[in-house]
Amino acid sequence: MERTIARHWLNYINGEWVDSSRHLDVACPANAEPFATVALASVEDAEQALDAAARCAASGELTRHRPAERVKWLLHIAAEIRAVAEEGARVLCRENGKRLSDARDEFIEAARYFEYYAGMADKIEGISVPLGDGYVDFTRYEPMGVSVQIVPWNFPVSICARSLAPALAAGNAVIVKSPELSPLGLCVLFQAIERAGLPRGAVHLLCGLGSKVGAHLAASPKTKQIVFTGSVPTGRAILSAAAQWATPSVMELGGKSAAVIFPDCDRNELLASVKSGIFFNAGQVCSAMSRLVVHRDIYDEVLAAVADLADRLVTGPGEDDPDHTPLISASQLDRVAAMCRDAIAEGATAVAGGDRMHDRSGHFMQPTVLGHVRPQMKIACEEVFGPVLAVIPFDTEDEAIEIANGTPFGLVAGVFTQDVNRALRLTRRLRAGQVFVNEWYAGGIETPFGGVGLSGFGREKGQEAIYSYVQTKNVAIRVAQH
Ligand code: NAD
Repeated sequence: MERTIARHWLNYINGEWVDSSRHLDVACPANAEPFATVALASVEDAEQALDAAARCAASGELTRHRPAERVKWLLHIAAEIRAVAEEGARVLCRENGKRLSDARDEFIEAARYFEYYAGMADKIEGISVPLGDGYVDFTRYEPMGVSVQIVPWNFPVSICARSLAPALAAGNAVIVKSPELSPLGLCVLFQAIERAGLPRGAVHLLCGLGSKVGAHLAASPKTKQIVFTGSVPTGRAILSAAAQWATPSVMELGGKSAAVIFPDCDRNELLASVKSGIFFNAGQVCSAMSRLVVHRDIYDEVLAAVADLADRLVTGPGEDDPDHTPLISASQLDRVAAMCRDAIAEGATAVAGGDRMHDRSGHFMQPTVLGHVRPQMKIACEEVFGPVLAVIPFDTEDEAIEIANGTPFGLVAGVFTQDVNRALRLTRRLRAGQVFVNEWYAGGIETPFGGVGLSGFGREKGQEAIYSYVQTKNVAIRVAQH
């Protein structure tokens, strides 16, 4: 029998599930109806978590054993996450609006992060530096201490695991600040983590307002590292707060990523990539393929094909596993619809969609393809964070690069061509942290991910990410010569 979703959810502080005098409603994006509440963490809760995390980090509980102990903890966490994937998926799907199968994948991906970084927890090796016979010199990678991780609503569970797993592998204590709009999947994740028996105070989960609890955590001298995934304005606020104590930060911000399409591309590969690139999770993906920069020789053909693709998408609530699901909130829908209206007023053509779905009670936007977009238009430069594809023509390779690199962002980019020399040339010229060739989202948890420019700095995923969670200490020893 299917279990119902709990009505009320708590924060996790210092090994206890803690309620609060204030609660936040959590609503289902598919029908806009609240179905649960979550305890709203206060600044005092944040202080308790900071103190407990600092105590845990200082106690050596996370580092005094052989690293193999952390390997065991992380593998145990992964197994517990796999065990709650079904339950967690139902909760995440309901609160976030995403497809049930994608919500399930998110939990499985979270487990994979813990498995992957379990494999690194006993391999964080320093180097020996030759200084001549009179010295022994080596480097040691030490944990930062308290890592504060501020998570957005679009993939809360996998984004949390992406930072939490390497942070624990490196021996840090972690405070996760969950997003107000989609906090419950993280509660299920932490119920699983709790069963792995980490030392008390090693992990904490706070659902608090970003402007209060998030800001407090970012500004605290007890915070020794910040990992922020979210919007550019919030990133700026956090960086200003971090500057006060020179707190090292990883910034995973937004994007306006472009795929450059050449006439020799494989059309099936292209259409499959457009479908996942811009319509997966209703386009609420930082690395969404939000611009298609298409050679003029095939512009009309490609525009018609992607419009047809968008028109054929089946829309519905995430529980039904349709192609296309609602946006997270009414304000997000208002924003996306307004950006489309403005683009049409500026001269773009809505060849598919272009408006909200007026016949539905939830926050549904039509899958939208905008043709005849000029690179200077707002729709071609600003992040929409919705199912809206801007299609822009180009004539020469240089022009394509100029358009693709012509925003302040640089998260990912793509090239679609059968010419390997051209593909490799473009991977060098495109300004982005990751370039996909002939398949959007071709990377995985094993491949370093992060931005340049306004898309942020620091890298998550892959082996490289572990070095965001440690600080290098050099030990230089003068030794006796006799
Ligand atoms: P957001 O910036 O509004 O919020 C993100 C988190 O920051 C939330 O937990 C929020 O409570 C918190 N927050 C808000 N104000 C704060 C403050 N002053 N101090 C500290 N914390 C604060 O972003 P969002 O709307 O939740 O997410 C969408 C954005 O995230 C998009 O711009 C998207 O591109 C970006 N994103 C980036 C990546 C990536 O890996 N690069 C991944 C997913 C989302």
